[in-house]
Amino acid sequence: MENCIFCKIAAGEIPSNKVYEDEHVFAFRDIAPQAPVHILVIPKKHFASMNEVCGENTLYAAKCLEAIALIAKQEKLNKGYRVISNCGEDGGQTVMHLHFHILGGEKLSEKMV
Ligand code: AMP
Ligand code: ZN
Repeated sequence: MENCIFCKIAAGEIPSNKVYEDEHVFAFRDIAPQAPVHILVIPKKHFASMNEVCGENTLYAAKCLEAIALIAKQEKLNKGYRVISNCGEDGGQTVMHLHFHILGGEKLSEKMV
């Protein structure tokens, strides 16, 4: 999709700190990390959020979840990690291309979920 920053990152048109890529998924380090490890996992197909997980998009979302387990191993997050997908205004979503945050590398706050 035109003018989507995450589509451009997945296409290599905007530089990123890539940590993983396969046919369906691209993952890179968040530009403003909120934990020692903060990675964004995105589908290579554009859709806005968890609200659009249906039909063909479901495969892309599931492939993101598979990739999260691989990336966690790669990043040696053996003590655990948190996965977050902000959805819409109340969820605090700022980039309208589905993404999963992987947060880890330290004991995370227990205040939010
Ligand atoms: P959200 O608020 O859930 O939509 O998350 C969007 C995330 O994208 C934020 O954590 C930003 O720091 C991150 N972000 C925005 N632009 C970039 C970029 N060019 N490279 C890496 N991360 C980015
Ligand atoms: Zn996009």
